[in-house]
Amino acid sequence: MTETALTTNQSFIDLEDQVAAHNYSPLPVVVTEAEGIWVTDVEGNRYLDALSGYSALNFGHRHPDLVAAAKAQLDRSTLTSRAFHNDQLGPFCRDLAALVGKESVLPMNTGAEAVETALKIARKWGYLVKGVPADTAEVVVMSGNFHGRTTTIISFSDDPEAHDHYGPYTPGFVTVPYGDLAAIEAAITDHTVAVLVEPIQGEQGVQIPKEGFLPGLRELCTERNVLMVADEIQSGLGRTGTTLACGYEGVEADMYTLGKALGGGIIPVSAVAADRKVMDVITPGTHGSTFGGNPLAAAVGHAVVKLLATGEHQAHAAELEPYFREQLEALIGKGVVAVRVRGLWAGVDIDPDVMTGKAACKALAKKGVLAKDTHGSTIRLAPPLTITKDELTVVTDTLAEVVAEAAAAR
Ligand SMILES: *Cc1c(COP(=O)(O)O)cnc(C)c1O
Repeated sequence: MTETALTTNQSFIDLEDQVAAHNYSPLPVVVTEAEGIWVTDVEGNRYLDALSGYSALNFGHRHPDLVAAAKAQLDRSTLTSRAFHNDQLGPFCRDLAALVGKESVLPMNTGAEAVETALKIARKWGYLVKGVPADTAEVVVMSGNFHGRTTTIISFSDDPEAHDHYGPYTPGFVTVPYGDLAAIEAAITDHTVAVLVEPIQGEQGVQIPKEGFLPGLRELCTERNVLMVADEIQSGLGRTGTTLACGYEGVEADMYTLGKALGGGIIPVSAVAADRKVMDVITPGTHGSTFGGNPLAAAVGHAVVKLLATGEHQAHAAELEPYFREQLEALIGKGVVAVRVRGLWAGVDIDPDVMTGKAACKALAKKGVLAKDTHGSTIRLAPPLTITKDELTVVTDTLAEVVAEAAAAR
């Protein structure tokens, strides 16, 4: 392999192309530094980050409180394994549980692991508490779901890219149309232990179920003695203007999966939160992770919880929501066909006759705004919750320019 001088964006892209697996198709921006809502590439160009690592950077890049917590913990202890206790885990779990209204927390690392954990807890609860016959548990899942990339999780994905050629698949999942209460009701049997739902489907393009779906699902799950499991990995922790997306309609799930922003954009931190009567089916040795609940992760996660405990970020997202919606709705008919907004989270459907989502994101990047396309013609916008109204205007004005230019060029 020849050594190229690594100075330009293209030189790093070429190197990656040679030596890294091709499991992503990134925009041609090579980030070298980042602070707040801004990132800089290796050629010195600055971009406004309107994706925030798919909501892993809800507080922006290198939030001073989070970096301080990480640095302080680096100087104390970083990993104990759960063979011993550490002085960060208890305070983190206490405050995270309080934040989401649950009694206990099981810490993991990535989002997919949190979902796997929730599925294991639900199945075990089904056998030990509900009395479902051994190895016959069913979980109802939604069409268009995204819960991660492990073998079990992709077993019930209906996205061919995520699913195909990875079989044989894990059984025990029944798929119903997203947001369809009647279909869920019909799918529930005596073997059903849980309904797994994203309160808003992020990966699917910020799909928001119709009002009343989540409260209806809550009622149905209670009636049929089935656990309502809300995957809040992307929707949770302030993104929607409430701490959890379920909270927008005042709904409490039985179990939450959390991740992404829980690690403050610094390290992977995920968790399952549930009340004791559900969580306590997990006993010593029956589930775990070498890194789950490590002191560095707990310290960073705790600092994230403290940022959310004041409610200030949630309030800011809620306050900007109407403006964000108004700005985006103004583009409908001008290269945009539909928008969906909740808090500081938006799915924007570009008119496929005007341009693809990917072309729109490339054009946005050229003009200094980073966003990501999904499913062909949708752009997902999820700027850091620390963004100001003026900075948000930069995002929406730049998008307006991009679609106007593409529409004019047709
Ligand atoms: C990102 C995401 C996951 C998976 O998280 P990873 O950390 O990538 O494993 C699961 N569920 C939802 C809703 C997500 O957005």
